[in-house]
Amino acid sequence: MYEGKALLGDDFDERNVRIVVTDGTITSIEEISRVPDRWIFPGFFNAHTHLGDTVAMDIDAAGAIGDLVAPPDGLKHRILRAASPRFCVEAMSASIQTMARTGSFGFADFREGGINGVRYLQEANADCSLDAAIFGRDGGETVSAGLGISSTRHYGEELTRIIEGARAEGKQIAFHAGEKDSTDVETALSFDPDMLVHCTHVSAAHIRSIADAGIPVVICPRSNWRLGVTSSSQNPPVHAMIEAGVELWLGTDNVMFVQPDMAAEMAFCHYVYGIDAKKILTMATGGAQIVGRNYAITEDTDARFIQYNTARSNAKYSKNMLNTIINRLNPMDLEGSLLN
Ligand SMILES: [Zn+2]
Repeated sequence: MYEGKALLGDDFDERNVRIVVTDGTITSIEEISRVPDRWIFPGFFNAHTHLGDTVAMDIDAAGAIGDLVAPPDGLKHRILRAASPRFCVEAMSASIQTMARTGSFGFADFREGGINGVRYLQEANADCSLDAAIFGRDGGETVSAGLGISSTRHYGEELTRIIEGARAEGKQIAFHAGEKDSTDVETALSFDPDMLVHCTHVSAAHIRSIADAGIPVVICPRSNWRLGVTSSSQNPPVHAMIEAGVELWLGTDNVMFVQPDMAAEMAFCHYVYGIDAKKILTMATGGAQIVGRNYAITEDTDARFIQYNTARSNAKYSKNMLNTIINRLNPMDLEGSLLN
């Protein structure tokens, strides 16, 4: 039984409630008059990660930072190849624990390293068991939920065959697209993907096509700024995408440069892009659809909510719970996830 001020449903309606969870399912939500200093709100879904990058975290490296992550021979890929399987699994497991402790209940990862790469990530997630959508490549897609294409510009004619093979096996298809420029967006769209990542540089026509096709877009604001693919709040064109009806999700991208902490991502996104608080929380939770879930707090759904102790910080003086959650969340005040 959990009592507190909660954000209920898809609209995050603020209510004082008692929530009963039975065997992991929310069986009842009842309004009550008095609640303890506790907020209850939906857990986050980190819609784009590269957890394998943990092995190269915060490395000092000369040269253009974007070159470090370019397949097949960027520094990141060389470090990944040189790392032992045990070391990789432990490193990814540590990042998964970091995500769990900072309020994420699930993630979608682009996993390198073929079939073994996917298996290592599945092993790394065994303890926390976060909801995971793994997008493998180089054969990894055969043992995971989806195929993750780094960028269509890294492939030749074989791309059609690879994608058709994955589709025939019922896999989801996701692309990095429009990260540095928009030259790989058209080709990605031609494959009718299930998800696009970045769209930092997309035209008005691209935005219209993405909206019409109902393709969700994962934006990774801190990664974009860190990698220097944007230096303006005009890119990615988030407001144009929102106005066109594109569904936006948030992701933290490469663990190498960016901590997989969705609270930090939400705050940065709010500062730089000025998206309203409700929309940002929707973006930070909505990616759960990729694993067939909705993290909104409603009866008869699996419990995926966060408890936040407002007595431990200045949060109890907040005049607007939603604004405080997206701007000031301190993971140290999370009262533990329901997963553990
Ligand atoms: Zn990425």
